[in-house]
Amino acid sequence: MSIEIGKKETPLEILACQVQFIKIQERDKVPSEHLKIRCPCLKLVRWIDAFRCLYCGIFYCRTCAEKHFGQTVEEYKAINTQ
Ligand SMILES: [Zn+2]
Ligand SMILES: [Zn+2]
Repeated sequence: MSIEIGKKETPLEILACQVQFIKIQERDKVPSEHLKIRCPCLKLVRWIDAFRCLYCGIFYCRTCAEKHFGQTVEEYKAINTQ
């Protein structure tokens, strides 16, 4: 079964797809450290490597997360470890 996030429009639909994709993997007894998330850019990333937006609830790969959040992970860490 494939999840075609690329054709989805709204953040809610993207999120619903991501949740559904996780549920399929859980049903298939995929261990949590091997769970995959499909970023809206269609890249598959490990769930533990994905970044979730607190506002949209959507999971992103690092590249998209940095674009979405408007700062790089390094910038975020620099700000938040002071
Ligand atoms: Zn991405
Ligand atoms: Zn967001």
